[in-house]
Amino acid sequence: VQIFGGMGFSADAPMEKAWRDARIARIYEGTNEINRMLAVGMLVKKAMKGHVDFLGPATKVGEELMGIPSFDTPNFSQLFAEEKDLVTRLKKVFLMVAGSAVQKYGPELENHQQLMLAASDILIEVYMAESTILRTEKNAKRFGEAEQATQIAMAKLYLYNATETIIQKGKEAIISFAEGDEQRMMLMGLKRFTKYTNNPNVVALRTQIADKVAADNGYTFD
Ligand SMILES: Cc1cc2nc3c(=O)[nH]c(=O)nc-3n(C[C@H](O)[C@H](O)[C@H](O)COP(=O)(O)OP(=O)(O)OC[C@H]3O[C@@H](n4cnc5c(N)ncnc54)[C@H](O)[C@@H]3O)c2cc1C
Repeated sequence: VQIFGGMGFSADAPMEKAWRDARIARIYEGTNEINRMLAVGMLVKKAMKGHVDFLGPATKVGEELMGIPSFDTPNFSQLFAEEKDLVTRLKKVFLMVAGSAVQKYGPELENHQQLMLAASDILIEVYMAESTILRTEKNAKRFGEAEQATQIAMAKLYLYNATETIIQKGKEAIISFAEGDEQRMMLMGLKRFTKYTNNPNVVALRTQIADKVAADNGYTFD
């Protein structure tokens, strides 16, 4: 829609139908709002029934927050090594936020819808970023890193954007239910768990992707 400008908005152009078809995905198999609340709500219910060990790992993250962080410089020479390390830490953000929220509110958590939505957004972004990285890694092994260079850039860019969303939603959630020292400690944890060792150059990544689309004159990633 955007690329075609004013014509993109017009019902006479084909994009209008494509946009509506894409947009319905957030409605017809259960709306975005309801599914996000279900994602966290069901996890919490399963944890309370003992079907999923959620509070155990959440407690471990809490203990890690009390400990001294490692100052070792990690070796990130392999493809996606840094990204995978970051994804592991992003999962800790979810455990920290959702675990503390469950401890604070118990079954009453479902009445705190904005908190549930924020936790769910974190969960979704971690899942999407990890899936993107693992799928791209698989393709890079199969077709070669040079051939998959644009997809690698896309996966890295996705993770960067996901991390930014997780920082924003994590902060919102933490401030909504924690105060004083507890809040400060969790915000420090958020910073530690979302930190890059080498900040990705997102402008260069976007340029790389745009150059490929421009050179191929279309969407060529099927
Ligand atoms: C093209 C299309 C195909 C469909 N196909 C099928 C099908 O094959 N099978 C089938 O069973 N159904 C189907 N549906 C129905 C679909 O599942 C419902 O439209 C959908 O679940 C939303 O329900 P609703 O339309 O009643 O919206 P409502 O439930 O009235 O929701 C309206 C808005 O309020 C929000 N909302 C509602 N409750 C809350 C809450 N507690 N907290 C926060 N926000 C809330 C919703 O997220 C939504 O944004 C289809 C719908 C469409 C449009």
